[in-house]
Amino acid sequence: MLWAMLFCAAHAFAQPAPIAYRVSFPAPEHHYAEIEVTFPGVSSQTLEARMSRSSPGRYAVHEYAKNVFEVQAFDGKGKTLTVTRPNAYQWNVTGHDGTVRIVYKIYGDHVDGTYLAIDPTHAHLNMPATMMWARGMEGRAVRVTFVAPKALAWVPATQLFPTSDPWTFTAPNLQYLMDSPTELSAQTIKTFTVAGPDGTERTIRVALHHDAGDAEVNEYVAGTQKIVKEHAAVFGELPDFEPGTYTFLGDYVPWGGGDGMEHRNSTVVASATSLKGPGTVLDVLDTVAHEFFHAWNVERIRPKTLEPFNFEEANMSGELWLAEGFTQYYGELIQARAGLANRDQVAASLARSANAVVNGSGRQFRSAVAMSQLAPFTDAARSIDKTNHSITFISYYTYGSAIALALDLTLRERSAGKLTLDDYMRAMWRVHGKPGGPEPGLVAKPYTLKDARDRLAEVSNDRAFADQFFDKYVEGREAVDYAPLLLQAGYLFRKRNTGAWIGQVSTDGSGAISSLVAWGTPAFEAGLDQGDVIIDVEGKPMSGGVLQAALKVKKPGDRLTVTIKRRGGATATVALTTKEDPGFDTVPVESAGGTLTPAQKAFREAWLGSRVPPTSK
Ligand SMILES: [Zn+2]
Repeated sequence: MLWAMLFCAAHAFAQPAPIAYRVSFPAPEHHYAEIEVTFPGVSSQTLEARMSRSSPGRYAVHEYAKNVFEVQAFDGKGKTLTVTRPNAYQWNVTGHDGTVRIVYKIYGDHVDGTYLAIDPTHAHLNMPATMMWARGMEGRAVRVTFVAPKALAWVPATQLFPTSDPWTFTAPNLQYLMDSPTELSAQTIKTFTVAGPDGTERTIRVALHHDAGDAEVNEYVAGTQKIVKEHAAVFGELPDFEPGTYTFLGDYVPWGGGDGMEHRNSTVVASATSLKGPGTVLDVLDTVAHEFFHAWNVERIRPKTLEPFNFEEANMSGELWLAEGFTQYYGELIQARAGLANRDQVAASLARSANAVVNGSGRQFRSAVAMSQLAPFTDAARSIDKTNHSITFISYYTYGSAIALALDLTLRERSAGKLTLDDYMRAMWRVHGKPGGPEPGLVAKPYTLKDARDRLAEVSNDRAFADQFFDKYVEGREAVDYAPLLLQAGYLFRKRNTGAWIGQVSTDGSGAISSLVAWGTPAFEAGLDQGDVIIDVEGKPMSGGVLQAALKVKKPGDRLTVTIKRRGGATATVALTTKEDPGFDTVPVESAGGTLTPAQKAFREAWLGSRVPPTSK
């Protein structure tokens, strides 16, 4: 194979010219961009240019090709080339001279972490929704020049690598380009440095497209700073942000959309709101707390199922309970640790996830892994037919957050507080995140489900414990007993209602059941379901409150008689056998008339209190 080696060595010195994009906005009021992309050094006869069908971090298929119009192709001398359409996502270009230049327009008016939005106030670009790319050239370096409308005072913010021209940026490869949302607007950009617990300083930028004042911006930046420090304390260090900075791309305009989307060195955090008004900044910081945890978890500690991201298909991962669910858990926890949220409210919110998993009828059918694998159909997916996901699916955010809660509190219990979930996340970081990748945008040591299990065995120093935990609660469908775990922190996880219960039965003004009835509830067992019209309850004509009033005088186990009219007109009288409501709520011991013991107080402080040393605040 000597010849091949010589061939490679020769080419190592002759890097092909980068793929060059020029992105302009001739009339932002009409919500379109004009994009010119030049592919040099095309070696195949046919250049296969594609629009993506998926976007990193959003798991449904999105057909970005639908908004492309007026596509033209030219060779290196400006000669017009023939373009054909082999499928809905692709433009084939032949007859070129080694260079293909494609010019197209693309429409977009949807602010979030997935799509393209252009108007006179900004261009908010998510790259899969914007940039055409070519098959076989995914490893090529990329150069992007943005051309802002002359009359508008826009500035760029992006995780793309800067150059000496403030409007030109680079990416080492397609994966990094697609991962790099860009905001062009008259935005406010604030920069601060944070030293991680290891002493290494990192630069963080907060880029805000907003209509609020300095006070709100300062409050936002101060809150973000606290959040960044608490996250760094979990992992013991901040990642190496390759362009030299990490950027929060905040879009807080009433015509925007609510979203958060993680990327390697940036995140889109958006809300269809102004930052003006009391409490607003605090409200939107929850997304900041969630997304920054992703700078480690999923961006660098990455499941193998998402590495590399496939832009031609839906990306299915069985690990989103960890990638998203653990992030959900830490997003909430960090708000408590940073003093940005009430500790009891955070504990209660985390316990609500636990209740949703313990009592969610979806758990009868799918494990946390299987829930994760459903993401392509639930994460911003669109369909016109109905699904029964409301009763067979539990979000992997919720499911994973409940698993994280169980694991954190169990590790603390087993080790008398010496081990926590932070240690598990550090182990995942050490083995899978920190080693980095061959170039920015690529992850060298992505993890499998088995790796996640093995790291738990190492951290707990107990293989049997790790196996049992994964077998039962991650890959299996068993529910954790949360009450004793939460009691360690002085929280009562208790039955919320001891009266008679038939399951959630919502009705509209006509008495029609308006949502699916959960599997296994008394109402389900008796054959009630969506669309059935309740005519009477225990002989009383149906009206608002009749069902609740009838239940109020029953005890669990009593029967409740209901007459319904089914689809097609048939009526039936059915007897439901009531049960006790299995739902839990959570209250601090001290609000339920008890006393918080010193041990509970210390446990609560270690769990929900700040992990940043006072000297670093
Ligand atoms: Zn997330």
